[in-house]
Amino acid sequence: MNEEQRKQQAQINQDQSVDRKSSQDKPLSEKTSEDFAHYFQSTYEPPNINKARKRYREEVEVHYDFEIPEDMRSIGEGRKFLIQTYGCQMNEHDTEIMAGILTNMGYEATMTPDDADIVLLNTCAIRENAENRVFGEIGHLKSLKRERPDLIIGVCGCMSQQESVVNRIMEKHQHVDLIFGTHNIHRLPNLVKEAMFSKAQVVEVWSKEGDIIENLPKVRHGKIKAWVNIMYGCDKFCTYCIVPMTRGKERSRRPEDIIQEVRHLAAEGYKEITLLGQNVNANGKDFEDIDYTLANLMDDMRKIDIPRVRFTTSHPRDFDDELINVLAKGGNLLDHIHLPVQSGSSHILRKMNRKYTREDYLELVRKIKAAIPNVTLTTDIIVGFPNETDEQFEETMTLMEEVGFEAAYTFIYSPREGTPAAAQKDDIPMDVKKERLQRLNKLVNDQSAESMESYLGKTVKVLVEGTSKKDDTVLAGYTEKNKVVNFKGPKDIIGEIVDVKITETRTWSLNGELVEETAEVTEV
Ligand code: SAM
Ligand code: SF4
Repeated sequence: MNEEQRKQQAQINQDQSVDRKSSQDKPLSEKTSEDFAHYFQSTYEPPNINKARKRYREEVEVHYDFEIPEDMRSIGEGRKFLIQTYGCQMNEHDTEIMAGILTNMGYEATMTPDDADIVLLNTCAIRENAENRVFGEIGHLKSLKRERPDLIIGVCGCMSQQESVVNRIMEKHQHVDLIFGTHNIHRLPNLVKEAMFSKAQVVEVWSKEGDIIENLPKVRHGKIKAWVNIMYGCDKFCTYCIVPMTRGKERSRRPEDIIQEVRHLAAEGYKEITLLGQNVNANGKDFEDIDYTLANLMDDMRKIDIPRVRFTTSHPRDFDDELINVLAKGGNLLDHIHLPVQSGSSHILRKMNRKYTREDYLELVRKIKAAIPNVTLTTDIIVGFPNETDEQFEETMTLMEEVGFEAAYTFIYSPREGTPAAAQKDDIPMDVKKERLQRLNKLVNDQSAESMESYLGKTVKVLVEGTSKKDDTVLAGYTEKNKVVNFKGPKDIIGEIVDVKITETRTWSLNGELVEETAEVTEV
């Protein structure tokens, strides 16, 4: 997605329990780091990228006994928290969980650091510029901490899983009270307690693997759309990517837990769910006791009375025929698939360790289009992987056209410490990379605009999410294929799926008129 598309998408304002017992006797809240030591190699020590890279055969444990320790249940009364989130949907959803935990501790959410008693930065490590923004913010918070020494400042998320980041914070940013990793979110009450009463910086980052913690409280962003984790971690080890080290090994949530969560959301009136994971197509592959894959899960989702089901992100390598066949059944499974390709060159794909070629990818696209003729495909592309030649970049341009992607998140390659690609010498100058990105973005914009033009005069189903940030008399929502639509209408239809006739098209959005009389319609 480029800047223009990001801006368009930013225009819209917008507890379950299970009776299965954990194999452990102690409730989770009473466990200490030592209790976890057999499945997490390091406790209370800075993260270690080499440990994080390893994959062991230990069984993933699923915990169903999360609870806030008694002495922390009202500690937040009269106090406020702010969580600033950077990065992907996974982080957004982790923020919803941390907000749930803090709310259950009595804290109230606030939008400004000035009246917050806890500020958490939920960080992203995927590219260097994301990290720079966080360090900028850490710097800004220093004066606030000087004025109010009791303020707790915490850094969590993917950046805290990196040794160099933790060392830099410990050395240069002593005003940060708390550093914790992506595997330690359920320990937030204990960590806050330690930060409140400890004079030293509290650091808790477990460097490998990870378990699954169920029934964590959540405060979801809005009542219309919801994220549901189906997978954690990633074992793909693309050579440019830090995620397998920051998020641990691939582990799937049990289907019964996912289904129960989605049923609850449907009962609460949510209209759309997005199943989340770094590589959702690997869902179920780690189960030893049942034969259950993403195809089975999507088939089960079809039986739940919720109007829209999406999933992200797919890895082309694991996208199998069974999944295509289930998606082709339609119903609440939407015909928009985000399928990151990263490059159009087989040579670069091999160097990226993507485990498919250009031809494999095109064959997969052919199969998907044959089974789901109306499908919309979007993608992620990295430009300027080390030593990518002009010819290899041109292959990305031609693949973009050949597939007919309607949108793409495009990135300049960013070396990440500890990944194999970062160790490579790179002879391509940055201005060449920037020029390639510009050319690619122009093509992405043109293809998006062209796909939008085909909507003119058609009627589409729009899930109304709120008012436009620019004009609150204008409502805004998304089509089944995730296109933004702006139109005038009464506010009481927010949260509903309505028909809108498209009267004007732009590069990244559509304008239309509410169709009062509902007719049977399908999106082009
Ligand atoms: N798991 C997903 C996948 O494999 O497609 C997405 C993971 S990542 C959060 C989102 C995107 O960031 C990737 O698809 C890739 O295009 C991009 N990305 C990851 N590492 C990068 C790097 N070092 N430099 C530039 N872009 C990167
Ligand atoms: Fe990163 Fe590749 Fe895993 Fe996606 S599949 S999270 S790009 S290692």
